[in-house]
Amino acid sequence: MLVDNLKIVQGKIQAALQTRKEAKLTGDNVTLVAVTKNHAPEVITEALALGVECIGENRVQEAKHKKEVLPAGGKWHLIGHLQTNKARQAVALFELIESVDSERLLELINEEAVRIGKVQDVLLQLNIAKEEQKTGFTREEYLAILPKLDTYKNVRVRGLMVIAQACTDVEETRPVFAAGYRCFCRLKEARPEIDCLSMGMSNDYTVAIEEGANMVRVGTALFGQRDYSLKF
Ligand SMILES: *Cc1c(COP(=O)(O)O)cnc(C)c1O
Repeated sequence: MLVDNLKIVQGKIQAALQTRKEAKLTGDNVTLVAVTKNHAPEVITEALALGVECIGENRVQEAKHKKEVLPAGGKWHLIGHLQTNKARQAVALFELIESVDSERLLELINEEAVRIGKVQDVLLQLNIAKEEQKTGFTREEYLAILPKLDTYKNVRVRGLMVIAQACTDVEETRPVFAAGYRCFCRLKEARPEIDCLSMGMSNDYTVAIEEGANMVRVGTALFGQRDYSLKF
């Protein structure tokens, strides 16, 4: 049951926050993004009714469909790779685009935000785990884009997003999250308005929080296995 799973996840978040306080890392709250991809739209209604505020979807088309059939509500986050030809729709649909992974995308999101008179909140996705299949800015690309962020006037960079590598021992993710936290702290020194560090999924969110995440994206631990037969 979602209500029980939510209690378990919230309990683990609090325990991890306690560990983090003992380690004297900054930040004392965590935003839970409930990842509802490949689940029926109704689970979103259920999650919102239980007090979850943020909904994570990884595909523009699926989120669009769900928003069309559901009453308005929740803050919608895009967490999956965004194709440049979908930037326009993404700006219309999402409060936060967590998965900005190229300068071209930033440029297109800005253009569209200017066009509709919106300031679009985004996170820059960093490729720290360096897995071939993972998107995200490499260290070099990230350093190159930092001085240019202010040129995109209708994009507000709120922070960073990191995905750890899949691994058998969750402890192996710790150095990746620690590196993400260091990048976040450095970015915050230059841009004090930065406030989001999105790291951690069902199998590794407690480690991510211990290492400094203040936003976690949790799907399976809340909603169970995804149903890939659902078509949107
Ligand atoms: C699917 C997904 C999640 C949630 O994964 P779970 O293991 O089900 O918690 C988190 N982040 C991203 C980027 C995802 O694509």
